[in-house]
Amino acid sequence: MIIVIDGLSGSGKSSTAKAVAEKLGIQYLDSGALYRVATYIWLEADKDTEKFLEILPLKDIQFEYVDKDFIVHVDGVNVSNKIRKQKVSEHVSIVAALPEVRIFINKLMRKAVKDSNYIADGRDLGSAVFPDADLKFFMEASLEVRAERRFKELRESDDSVTFGQVMENLLDRDSRDKSRKMDPLVKPEDAYIIDTSEKTFDEQVIEICNIISEKVLINKNLEL
Ligand code: C5P
Repeated sequence: MIIVIDGLSGSGKSSTAKAVAEKLGIQYLDSGALYRVATYIWLEADKDTEKFLEILPLKDIQFEYVDKDFIVHVDGVNVSNKIRKQKVSEHVSIVAALPEVRIFINKLMRKAVKDSNYIADGRDLGSAVFPDADLKFFMEASLEVRAERRFKELRESDDSVTFGQVMENLLDRDSRDKSRKMDPLVKPEDAYIIDTSEKTFDEQVIEICNIISEKVLINKNLEL
C-alpha cells in the first residue's frame, strides 16, 4: 500500500507523514531528502552538472526510516544532517528540475516501496511518481505559517539562519517547483486537501489517520 502527501515547502508534510507512519506502524519515505542528496552530490561535484550527471548513477544511495529519522547514506557515509544545510536548500530546486535527476530518483522510490506499506511525502508523488497511489493527500498552509515552521526547524541546527532568508528561500522554491517543465508541483484532482494553517499538529495527523483507516475498512484488498 502506498499513501502520498504532496504540498508546498513547509506545509508540514514530513512531520505529519512521520507521525502517521508511527501511528499506523508503516514505513516512511522522504522524497525531498533524496532530491537533497542529489543536490549534495552536485555541490560535491563543484556544481559541474555534466560531471554530476556522470557520477550520480554510480553512487550507492541507501535510505531507511529509523527512530523517527529518515537516514540517508551515500557510498556508506551518513549524510542525513549535511543535506539539511542552507546551502543544499538554496540549490535543491535547481537540481530537482533536471529531468535526469527526476528519472533517477523516481526509479529509486518506486523500487523502495514495492515490498512494504509506505507513506511518502513530496511535490509530485500523487501526480507523477505514484499516480495509482491508494490514497493521496495535498497539504496547504499560508506562506507566513510555513516560513515560521521552517525557521524554527532550521534554527535547531543552524543559528545563523534568519527569518528573511527562510521566507525568500520558500518563495523561490515554491515558484521553481510549480513552474519546472518536468513533473511540476500540482494538486492531484483525486487528493484530499488538508489546510493546516488553522489546525494543530495532532488534529491534522488524526484527520489523515481517520481517512486512511476508513479507506482500509472499505477496501478489502488493502491492509495495514
Ligand atoms: O521536502 P523538502 O523541502 O526537503 O524538499 C526539498 C526540495 O526537493 C523541494 O524544494 C523540491 O525542489 C524538491 N522536491 C521535488 N519533488 C519531490 C520532493 C522534493 O522536486 N517529490
